[in-house]
Amino acid sequence: SIFLGIESSCDDTAAAIVTGDRRILSSVVAGQTEMHADFGGVVPEIAARAHAERLDICAEQALAESGLTLCDLTAVAVTAGPGLIGGVMAGVMMAKGIAAGAGLPLVGVNHLAGHALTPRLTDGIDFPYLMLLVSGGHCQFLRVDGPQEFSRLGGTIDDAPGEAFDKLAKLLALPQPGGPSVEAEAALGRADRFELPRPLLDRPGCDMSFSGLKTAALRLRDQLIAEQGGLRQSDRQDLCAAFQTAVAEVLAEKSRRALALSPAPFLAVAGGVAANKTIRAALEQVAWDAGACFLAPPLRLCTDNAAMIAWAGIERFQTGARDGMDLAARPRWPLDSRAAPMLGSGK
Ligand code: ATP
Ligand code: FE
Repeated sequence: SIFLGIESSCDDTAAAIVTGDRRILSSVVAGQTEMHADFGGVVPEIAARAHAERLDICAEQALAESGLTLCDLTAVAVTAGPGLIGGVMAGVMMAKGIAAGAGLPLVGVNHLAGHALTPRLTDGIDFPYLMLLVSGGHCQFLRVDGPQEFSRLGGTIDDAPGEAFDKLAKLLALPQPGGPSVEAEAALGRADRFELPRPLLDRPGCDMSFSGLKTAALRLRDQLIAEQGGLRQSDRQDLCAAFQTAVAEVLAEKSRRALALSPAPFLAVAGGVAANKTIRAALEQVAWDAGACFLAPPLRLCTDNAAMIAWAGIERFQTGARDGMDLAARPRWPLDSRAAPMLGSGK
């Protein structure tokens, strides 16, 4: 089978062609970082407009790069949520148009399922496995038992770690996105000069919290400025190192608990924060200690992309799932319907 995947739920417009035997024939991602740079966050209206303007170009490019035409496709898979509703609607409308025009089946995909199923695309692993999804917008542990069987073991109760990295960068006047710039500063700093909290580590379970870390960093920064009249380069580096270590330790300890609570042969990560080498190394150690294999897909498949959507579509399709022209775009769509309340969800 050969699937076209379409993704437009946040600030990346993406299209990809993926086969049932796990080959990515093309994967096009058009980011919007520059468009939102002046606003300190993704502006939904700007994002939706950019998606609407670029979806057709991305889909055409994905097809061209794969060397195929619409006639070669088995079906169209599209992110139907969760995400910024204007962008999701633009993608769903695009997918419906292609499916109707080419007479192809349509499969709606949960964006988080796309992330969670990525290790099956990249490494071909079997169920069950444990997934830590850790990005700018998400942070949760998922036990994955099947293409549509996800149990949420815990997650952040406030900020996602990527968001916390971005906010720290802003505090320290480092370039956005914050993750890479904080990691670069941290590499030159000492992690033991400043003491930062390890939120929620004293409480049982797999829930996490990261907003307190940012507040503590802000207090330290202001204290340094008050004492010295400004920040030295080494202050920035040491703060970044302390911050990164704190995040890594919290993620590692909670991963240890998740693996103890729900043993699995694999610990996989996805999301942009999985690019962080200190965090990766900490998680790898945890997996090793638990006798599990650690899997981190290549970064371009960790962050938002359409190959994961095409793949999740293939997995859903194989279970017999099909969607019609009434497929709805959903701003909220928890993966685990037992654990998460359906407040304000699209359906
Ligand atoms: P989502 O896809 O969950 O809606 P998103 O689009 O913000 O959210 P991603 O694109 O997966 O998420 O990841 C971006 C986030 O990853 C940013 O917050 C960025 O700071 C963070 N990030 C990227 N590289 C690193 C790094 N090396 N260390 C820490 N964080 C990083
Ligand atoms: Fe995502």
